Amino acid sequence: MITDEILAKYEMTVGVECHVQLATDTKLFSGADNDARDKSPNSVVSPIDYGLPGMLPVLNRRAVDLAIKAGKALNSSIAHISRFDRKHYFYPDLPKGYQTTQLHQPIICSGVVHVPMEDGRVVDVRIHHAHLEEDAGKLTHFGDYSLVDLNRAGTPLIEIVSEPDIHSAIEAKSYATELYRLMTYAEVTFGDLYHGNMRFDVNVSAALKGATTLGTRAEVKNLNSFKSVERAAEYEFRRQVEILEKGEKVVQETRGWDDNKQKTSSQRSKENAQDYRYMPDADIPPIVLTDDEISAIQADMPRLPGEWRQILSQLGLDYLPIETLLDAENEFRGKINILQMIEDVIADPKKAKFIANWNVNILIPILRSDIDFKIGQTDYLALESAIYELSDANKLSSTNAKILFRELADLDELPDVETYATEKGYIQVSDEGAIATIVDEVLADPISAKAVEDLKNGNDKVIGFLVGQIMKKSGGKANPTLAQKLIRERIK
Ligand code: MN
Repeated sequence: MITDEILAKYEMTVGVECHVQLATDTKLFSGADNDARDKSPNSVVSPIDYGLPGMLPVLNRRAVDLAIKAGKALNSSIAHISRFDRKHYFYPDLPKGYQTTQLHQPIICSGVVHVPMEDGRVVDVRIHHAHLEEDAGKLTHFGDYSLVDLNRAGTPLIEIVSEPDIHSAIEAKSYATELYRLMTYAEVTFGDLYHGNMRFDVNVSAALKGATTLGTRAEVKNLNSFKSVERAAEYEFRRQVEILEKGEKVVQETRGWDDNKQKTSSQRSKENAQDYRYMPDADIPPIVLTDDEISAIQADMPRLPGEWRQILSQLGLDYLPIETLLDAENEFRGKINILQMIEDVIADPKKAKFIANWNVNILIPILRSDIDFKIGQTDYLALESAIYELSDANKLSSTNAKILFRELADLDELPDVETYATEKGYIQVSDEGAIATIVDEVLADPISAKAVEDLKNGNDKVIGFLVGQIMKKSGGKANPTLAQKLIRERIK
């Protein structure tokens, strides 16, 4: 049994390779549709993707532009000259007999991803490089035969290779999450994890703390969720520590992750590294980019997560609400612009903070769990702004504000909010004179006599009873804070 004490003697080291499917219309070297989701097998394949003799690939310029955007998100510089290489191996899902990729001169140079952690740390994960390449097809195995589907062959990818700068499973998960945010905010990918738009290969090793060399690593391939990145890293670390504690050696190999069993298992040994006989691809000219081209593309990019974090933390928001907003932006992209609403009123920081908190605490939970909610029916910013003004003027209690929002948020047309709230009796009376009259009546009422006496004797709890009486008499419209203040002025 491996105890926490034993684990604490070792350090985990993780490097991640991530394949990101680029959001192009067509494939990397052919005009075939890049969206293979729910398509019947081998229906979105061109002769180029089949690797038929005589075919000539033509590089998709849009993929290059997206790689340039990815480079900015990774804080990397872009190579002025990059090239494609052929990586040879035989496999039925690779009809050309080689993968077109970039080995010697990748398009995206070294960079860094700043990964914010819940405990307040920021883990800097260096990026070794990222390269453009095509995906292979897919094999499906049945009993004694297998079928090939080439719909994904030629799908444009960038592979982002990190340095081994990650030292815990939660850091690995946070890094994967942050990469996802970067690539989706930069609009490099559609980010459909279910359909494999981002896949993570996690290289894990364990070594005694303070050791000068890294341990032998095992690679867990093709993880497609952040949770599985975390679980696989944790599982591998424990497995390797157990081997090392027995005095045995970790084998360098590729392992698969079984999500049902929550285990990794050996797939193939890497002891005899394959010779891929890399050679420059003679069919595709080098990609030559000028500084002007690169900066023109990078100038035209949406705000990245780091910039949003800065804006939101300046409003006084903490880690969790900020991350909730960033996630929800992705979750409801194209339906509600959660972050843009905040930015639209940023000139008034108090209001912007109110809108941000309202989105975190009220809007997002409704979007996520209220199945009756008709999304996108109304101008949420207009509604939240009206609620902000009414709350700020003490005309709306927080309880009534929530009720009001839910009633109006999925109407086809937004009525005048204050008029609606007044008609529904949600507006509270904050007119001191009007409340004072009720307060005097309540205090004079024999029902209140005992409470008044107790309050005079220092029993502060009974003030709740008196405020309750005032609320009742005012039909729920009195501002309770004001009522309490008036009672205290009268009973000292
Ligand atoms: Mn690759």
